Amino acid sequence: MDANVTREVYLDYQSSKPVDPRVLDAMHPYFSIKFGNPSSLHLVGDEATKVLEDSREKVAAFIGANQKEIIFTSGATESNNLALIGYAMRNKRKGNHIIISEVEHISIFNITKYLERNGFEVTRVPVDQYARVSPKKLESRITDRTILVSIGYASNEVGTIQPMEEICDVIKRKGIAIHTDAVAAEGLLPLDVNEVPIDLMSISSNDIYGPKGLGVLYIRDGVSVVPTIIGGGQERGLRSGTENIPAVVGMAEATQICSAEMPEEAKRLSSFRDRLIKGVLNKIPKAYLNGHPTERLKNNAHFRFEGVEGESLLLSLKDRGISVSTGSACTSKTLEPSHTLIACGLLHEEAHGSLEFTFGRFNTESDIERVLDVLPGVLERLRGLSPLYEKELIQ
Ligand code: PMP
Repeated sequence: MDANVTREVYLDYQSSKPVDPRVLDAMHPYFSIKFGNPSSLHLVGDEATKVLEDSREKVAAFIGANQKEIIFTSGATESNNLALIGYAMRNKRKGNHIIISEVEHISIFNITKYLERNGFEVTRVPVDQYARVSPKKLESRITDRTILVSIGYASNEVGTIQPMEEICDVIKRKGIAIHTDAVAAEGLLPLDVNEVPIDLMSISSNDIYGPKGLGVLYIRDGVSVVPTIIGGGQERGLRSGTENIPAVVGMAEATQICSAEMPEEAKRLSSFRDRLIKGVLNKIPKAYLNGHPTERLKNNAHFRFEGVEGESLLLSLKDRGISVSTGSACTSKTLEPSHTLIACGLLHEEAHGSLEFTFGRFNTESDIERVLDVLPGVLERLRGLSPLYEKELIQ
């Protein structure tokens, strides 16, 4: 970082969120004085069982579920594994066809590749230019062998929200199960399994300012999966391993805070988003918004800038103390362009010229103003160095 920079601005909340100090306080005793294992039959074990079940109830209430429909896992990746592999293996006698979209998280892509190597067929439904799945297109890909559809609630990259109610309508009419990875939408949209008839839903603790290393798979009562982690039979035999009580308590506390504060927080985040989008599109020539103009997460602004590399932009902003992202943290170490942007119809060089800003609980208006102060100059300098941009201007 440049030595003259006095303040850091963090705008990559999609990759990682700080634990809310209130969550940290709630977790603290469970690392030391309240250390019990819920599998133990003594008093200390009973206390751990009680807090585990109380926390499960709070997490269930957060999504309108019943306590017994909540399985704690180590994170969203594991929840996605349990949902897809667990459901596919349990129901393989009914059929071997699974449908996902072309803009799913890398974990869903790689899990379905694993399933393909193990006798399943996978269809990846294309999306429109905004990364939206068409329920009609989805319906046209259903066969009599289709057992499961998995569509992310919203894109963790471009922030587009899927028409989940219509998607569920189509899928449920055919008697097929539906899974959603709701990690990107969590804490930003109300997720109520009574309103949207999802069968399986992955969420994670860190995405609502809880600790990392904890996730949940919601499994609707009556839906059956086989475990992907075998052991001592915890979590109704569906996820063995000693429960991570401090993290479970933290996630439960995070759900309480989120439920109470979501309406206010949503207003604040969408005002940051709208200010940044308007400011960037007004101040910077040849800048375009990626993702849907209105059906988008309240904390997401994702742009394409002509004639620059996203990585160069990211590094120039890093020098000025501003942390942003070129896309999903889970794929940021590959040189491949974002599969989501390519699915939206962007050319490779257009995808490489994109940058993602995601806001969160601890941002202030001045963070957005700082970006709007710094970004135009950074772009001008980088474009000045780019023969590609020069050529485009001459044409
Ligand atoms: N799904 C989505 C949409 C994500 O953004 C992420 C990463 N935060 C994951 C799944 C994987 O989560 P984790 O790394 O906690 O397993």
